[in-house]
Amino acid sequence: MEDFYTIQGEGFHQGRAAYFIRLAGCEVRCVWCDVKDSWNANDHPKVSIESIVAKAKASGTEICVVTGGEPTMHNLEALTQALKSAGLKTNLETSGAYPITGTWDWICFSPKKFKHPHPSVAQQANELKVVVFHKTDFAWAEEFAQQVNATCKLYLQPEWSKEEDVLPQLIAYVKANPKWQISLQVHKYMNIP
Ligand code: SF4
Repeated sequence: MEDFYTIQGEGFHQGRAAYFIRLAGCEVRCVWCDVKDSWNANDHPKVSIESIVAKAKASGTEICVVTGGEPTMHNLEALTQALKSAGLKTNLETSGAYPITGTWDWICFSPKKFKHPHPSVAQQANELKVVVFHKTDFAWAEEFAQQVNATCKLYLQPEWSKEEDVLPQLIAYVKANPKWQISLQVHKYMNIP
């Protein structure tokens, strides 16, 4: 759908320069999705892996973040091999809707209620990032915290449109449950993509 060099605004790599590769296509259909234009892959022209990797390399980035849409809809072996051959780190942002393909340096797993994740994904996650839209999402987050491996980082992130309501609940929850950290979408404060 698009690719661009920016700052990773969320989670463990927040604040780091990163080249984003947004793949089109998503069947998860979150009601609060902020990239609904990504849902229909046929709305976007196909782009060669070689051209994307060349642009990423030329940007000067060390990290490529593959996001969507839902990137696990696609076989990601060829893309990740090409990125790694170019000396770039491969980071994945996924709801885990499908089994993960490809070779990854970092997997951010962000499960969504709108399409339950594939059971193979949680154990592969380096980072669990749960978007909190409603107070029931804390129980949803804990369900997945039980499934990830012991080294997985745990983040709660307020849904952007609900941030004013949700953030106080999140602060109280993390103070009471310090295994979690708060992730804010700092790219939105900086007005960058
Ligand atoms: Fe949007 Fe991501 Fe949800 Fe798909 S998984 S609907 S791209 S927020």
